[in-house]
Amino acid sequence: MFEVLTPLAPDPILGLSVAYNEDSHPQKIDLGVGVYKDEQGNTPILKAVAKAQQKLLASEKSKTYISPQGHQGYIDGMLTLLLSNKSKALLSNRVAAVQAPGGCGALRILAELIARANKEARVWVSDPTWANHIPLIGSAGLAIETYPYFDKDTASINFDAMISTLRQCKKGDVVLLHGCCHNPTGADLTNAQWDEVLQVAKEREFLPFLDVAYLGFGDGLDEDAYGIRLLTDNLPEVLIAASCSKNFGLYRERVGLAAIVTRDTASSRIVQGQIQSVARGIYSMPPSYGGALVDMILNDEQLKHEWVTEVDEMRERMKSLRAMLVDQLAANGADRDFSFVNKQKGMFSFLCITPEQVREIRANHSVYFVESSRVNIAGINQSNVEALAKALVAVVK
Ligand code: PMP
Repeated sequence: MFEVLTPLAPDPILGLSVAYNEDSHPQKIDLGVGVYKDEQGNTPILKAVAKAQQKLLASEKSKTYISPQGHQGYIDGMLTLLLSNKSKALLSNRVAAVQAPGGCGALRILAELIARANKEARVWVSDPTWANHIPLIGSAGLAIETYPYFDKDTASINFDAMISTLRQCKKGDVVLLHGCCHNPTGADLTNAQWDEVLQVAKEREFLPFLDVAYLGFGDGLDEDAYGIRLLTDNLPEVLIAASCSKNFGLYRERVGLAAIVTRDTASSRIVQGQIQSVARGIYSMPPSYGGALVDMILNDEQLKHEWVTEVDEMRERMKSLRAMLVDQLAANGADRDFSFVNKQKGMFSFLCITPEQVREIRANHSVYFVESSRVNIAGINQSNVEALAKALVAVVK
């Protein structure tokens, strides 16, 4: 049967990791895969998570299935974190939600839900967007279109082009927006730009689909939720796929949330049943462990406080790495002004150099990142920043 299958091209990011591991250069630098790293280059278990693990070990009495929607304490904690306890949608019982296996699981089941409601729906994604959006949404059979987003020449969002494309959306179209910390560019909408997106969503009656994978990594947990709260407070329907991989450091535990703001309580009950049935057709029940940990953290004042402090530390560290890189580039005589890196948010930045320059920096300086010029800011540290800046200056000149 499988003789008809042909080999696939290797995944560019995973291929990069292999090449990095095989490189014997003593000062090689890995800015590829999107995981947070500390100053020593490790991705540690957060202290709040380690404490929750101890509590869970002591209290968990069974490994029987959890309920199909997941841990209710997890769902409620996450919804409050994302939408706030003043959320109109939450207060009027208009939100359906399930714990999903990672942000990817959430994206996939929401795509399937859209397809159940309207097979013809088009999903608009930013140009560029996170590469995995295409298979996750496309696998549900939905057509994908792109709206202009980032302009490499100006190293900023081309908001006029974005809005004029969104103005062409039809009722029933779905528009995927990164809630914060845009992957891959690091370029986020300002609050005023979110306000404009809301106006266009109202005019054109498109359905916003928010992907929230880096809450807290931009300006703060509440600050980063501006767009999410604005849209969910002011529109009848919104989709949200959230991930706890980065801000809780729970990558391998696969913890995400698929949430749907609906028109009224009756539709929310129907959507809740539908989304559970979608999940049942793919993986049946969500994994328990990671959701149980987040439930414990978000619903315990002390643990939550510790977790918020750790998110603040990760964010502030990444901000200071941006500043260090920009300073080092200037100090080493960069021809170009890289100060746009300081304005970008979250874990990623587009350095706006060419694919040829990316290949050159890899071949000649053992610095690894993808050809789009996306770098993982958390891969920078005090001991590699100068070498990185010098390598960049050498290839950009
Ligand atoms: N959305 C975006 C934009 C992401 O970058 C990621 C993680 N790389 C995800 C969703 C999903 O992550 P996960 O499935 O690991 O939670």
